[in-house]
Amino acid sequence: MPASARETIGRRRDSDSADERTLIDPLSDDERYGSEVSDGDYDHDILESEDEREKLLTRKDGIFGNKGIRIGRRDRNAPTKQRGKRGHNDELSALMYEMEEGVGASSSSFERRSSESDERRLLAAGTHRQSQKKRIWRRVGIYGSIAGLFFVLLFAAYRASKSEHPKNAATMVSNGTHLFAPTTILISLDGFRADFLYRGLTPTLNNFVAEGISPKYMMPSFPSVTFPNHFTLATGLYPEAHGVVGNSFWDEDLQKEFYYTDPERSLQPYWWGGEPIWRTAERQDTPVAVHMWPGSEVHSEEFRPAYVDKYNGSEILSKKVDRVMEFLDTPGPLDIGVKSDQPRPQLIMTYVPNVDADGHMYGPNSTEIRQTINDADTMVGNILKGLEARNLTDIVNVVIVSDHGMATTDTSRLVQLEDLVDPNEIEHIDGWPHFGLRPKKISELERLHKQILDRAQNMTNIEVYLRDKDTPERYHFSQNERIAPLWIIPKAGWAVIAKADGDVEEMKENGVVYHPRGIHGYDHEHPLMRAIFVARGPAFPHKPNSRVEPFQNINVYNIICDSIGITPLANNGTLRLPLKPVGLHSDEDSPLEETPEDPVPSAKPSPSASADAVPISSATVSMATTVTPAKASKTASSTASAKPTPTSTESWWQWLTHSAENVEDWVDEFMKDHFTGKPIQEGTGMGKGGSAV
Ligand SMILES: [Zn+2]
Repeated sequence: MPASARETIGRRRDSDSADERTLIDPLSDDERYGSEVSDGDYDHDILESEDEREKLLTRKDGIFGNKGIRIGRRDRNAPTKQRGKRGHNDELSALMYEMEEGVGASSSSFERRSSESDERRLLAAGTHRQSQKKRIWRRVGIYGSIAGLFFVLLFAAYRASKSEHPKNAATMVSNGTHLFAPTTILISLDGFRADFLYRGLTPTLNNFVAEGISPKYMMPSFPSVTFPNHFTLATGLYPEAHGVVGNSFWDEDLQKEFYYTDPERSLQPYWWGGEPIWRTAERQDTPVAVHMWPGSEVHSEEFRPAYVDKYNGSEILSKKVDRVMEFLDTPGPLDIGVKSDQPRPQLIMTYVPNVDADGHMYGPNSTEIRQTINDADTMVGNILKGLEARNLTDIVNVVIVSDHGMATTDTSRLVQLEDLVDPNEIEHIDGWPHFGLRPKKISELERLHKQILDRAQNMTNIEVYLRDKDTPERYHFSQNERIAPLWIIPKAGWAVIAKADGDVEEMKENGVVYHPRGIHGYDHEHPLMRAIFVARGPAFPHKPNSRVEPFQNINVYNIICDSIGITPLANNGTLRLPLKPVGLHSDEDSPLEETPEDPVPSAKPSPSASADAVPISSATVSMATTVTPAKASKTASSTASAKPTPTSTESWWQWLTHSAENVEDWVDEFMKDHFTGKPIQEGTGMGKGGSAV
């Protein structure tokens, strides 16, 4: 009998419409089953044997306890034969009604199960009479049990939906073996000037441009230095809005100084305003991995990225590739082996300092930087190959950006600070190479401003601004008390130095080569400060080689948010996906691949000159109120020693290798200075040296 009942159930199920099942599934099965069984003679036939009944009770597994439900129905619903013969719609209506009634349809089953022995005694006695009172109490118990079970199930369903169905399960795409939620890799090549793409050193990046979408260049924000711009990339806010207004600056309210390479100071959360994208994403249950992005190690409490890799300036580039692949290979939300504390990130941000470091050390037009540019290109190539090997080329977005360009410096382009202002009148000097001046007496501000303007009358290579008076609006560099009240901003390729650190006239006479050889931080719209933005992937469904108009880096936050389907917080950016191309780079009317004129050094480097080089760190140290001379001189010597020149006994390759080693040593030194918790200097935070970023 049970067997035939089962078959009947099967037929009935087959005939059910999907909608009905969806509506009433858990109970309707029971109901249907109960109805079918009722066609037989329940009380006297089907369950006359305890064995049979046991079989029926245990026939179906499942948390609903279906078997009990089936049997129990009958106790309460005498006219089962009629119900069994009712039309399907009637049955459905009845079921729905019963569900509303309090899941009464299944209620008696629990009573059955919980008081099975009583039931059996009753059955054995051959009596089916039950007192009305007992039935009422049973029902109360049954309803209570059912209600409890209902909530347990509801909770279980909720948990199941959380763990097995990520919020964007509907948008997940398979690479053949795994499902991927919208994913973007954001790579920042620090100091990669836009026209570095036109030097024949970057086959991968050029091919990437040809496959993707890009402007001819992307404008950084002012000041065009690393920390403000990386946080602008991450937040979509101008530096004046997110508060990291320079690599080094004084906060009058806090009576504290921000100094970018001193983690003790720079990683305090009060410096970093706005919401970086890793927080925006994590807040929206979208895991993020950040590999060394400036500002990502800030000690914030909630919504930290799932992965944060501590800065290591000497990490070799292949390690970065490995790390990105490791993130991609993490089990996804629907994969076996997924761990809640090790999610697969949907946003992978990685930071590459090498091009910037060599730009400072050797200059953007140097022979040395060519190899570094090529190395960065190879690294990007290996990431793209890794994607291809995983069949992820069309699934994972890749966006490559830089934070600013680089201008060549030269001894012939130096301005002596003392020619403009007496350093003794200045309490703090912010930034580099742009000079933010905080007078010891704020009442002297107007006088100092006028004095500098008067003395600079014949200088066409510096700009002088009062923050609250005439800062160019396009700088967006006035609406924050952390911005010094008075600024001297040299033109691209120029630098201002204090006399104690180098007498400009003497340096010129002696042919001393000025270091760093490359600097940025100038007017963010200057062609030499131009950065790059190139994107490819499903969030950029444009024709290959598409071109968009140049835009400022405040738009990157929106673009990345859109690419992974999260909602950006209000910010200064205005672009949203999809980007609107204006044509192809290959179009005839497309702008030329413009290489801006870089001020060419007048003095050629020589071994003797480099030994006498005046590293900017020592120049700046003299301005400090408190100085760590040992540190300063150490930096100076390491900077100077890191300038190898080939000798007659060295082969070209040996020299190159030697150079690379020196760079590595220098970077190590730099990192030791800055990331062991010891600041390179304690003063006004003007320290830059070859380490200026
Ligand atoms: Zn930078």
